[in-house]
Amino acid sequence: MQISKLNKSRIGEIDFQNLPFGTVFTDHMVIARYRDDSWSEPQIIPYGDFKISPAANVFHYGQAVFEGMKAYKDGQGQILLFRPMDHCLRLQKSAQRLNIPPVDTELFFKSLKELLKLDHQWIIPGKENSLYVRPFIIGDSPKIQVSPSKTHTFMIICSPARSYFEENQQIRVIINTNHSRAAIGGVGNVKAAGNYAAQFYPTNIAVESGYQQLIWTDATTHRYIEESGTMNMVFRIGETLVTPPVSDRILDGITRRSVITIAKNQGIPLEIRAVKISEIIEGSLNGSLKEIFGVGTAVVVCPISEFSFENKTYTAHWPRKTYAQVFKKMITDIQHNLANDPFGWRYVVN
Ligand SMILES: *Cc1c(COP(=O)(O)O)cnc(C)c1O
Repeated sequence: MQISKLNKSRIGEIDFQNLPFGTVFTDHMVIARYRDDSWSEPQIIPYGDFKISPAANVFHYGQAVFEGMKAYKDGQGQILLFRPMDHCLRLQKSAQRLNIPPVDTELFFKSLKELLKLDHQWIIPGKENSLYVRPFIIGDSPKIQVSPSKTHTFMIICSPARSYFEENQQIRVIINTNHSRAAIGGVGNVKAAGNYAAQFYPTNIAVESGYQQLIWTDATTHRYIEESGTMNMVFRIGETLVTPPVSDRILDGITRRSVITIAKNQGIPLEIRAVKISEIIEGSLNGSLKEIFGVGTAVVVCPISEFSFENKTYTAHWPRKTYAQVFKKMITDIQHNLANDPFGWRYVVN
């Protein structure tokens, strides 16, 4: 693989204690081009702006997909990833849905590993630190004809991250029944760039009314809970953990999958089924709703302190010992090599 190194690392200029999420990038990036019906050898080059035609498909028709994963460093200095094959397969699935030629598994892993080894100093050990890894593919044929791009660019950029929401910080959410994130037969189950653009406006309305996020409901009836921002939703009703099934409209989150596996392993009663808004309101009123949290790579587990529906607010009756804490600890301990890995999720980069 061709590697052009930056002459002098920028790492000395970075204040790692004070890192707004996703704003600082490491020294290098991966780039591979799809030209003449095949992917070229990936290259590693210094992180920076690059040239692209103003007519590129991505600007006009949004042919773009991405992944979000994290790298960690343990006490011995090993570079670790969490379930990277799952991320690779999901990128391929997203690409296929957007009519983008998927990058093959070997290209993905080879370039990712080289990049992490080259920029390893940017991965700070310790449980509150990680390196957010953002692989993505854009259609870049220079033509504004409405048709799939014939050329594409695959890239990986990396951004050092501190714990996304502060430890134990809870968020307030509002249930949205006017907008829809995803539809049956649509692209809600893949990481298509346009899904996120479509969320900004409704989410901003929620933020302006004092909430951090909104909860999406099903596009057909708006009576069922689907996701919250870029997190899958999990509830505890009595002793039972409940999460909606993945579908065309609900993204198959790797954190959600991990939570389900841990719940089964720990003997936590689990139901994967549709969750009605009326059910969680009732649970809040009668005390059976014990926990609500979102799960996703960025935050791992994010407790929701309060949800609002039709101008009333409701809370869960959090016990002292929560399932949320169990999942967060098990997952982050596995990620940082602080616990055994009975499920084979940890991947050592070497
Ligand atoms: C990425 C994402 C998630 C979480 O998936 P993870 O694999 O756990 O990071 C959930 N919902 C949506 C809409 C997402 O884009």
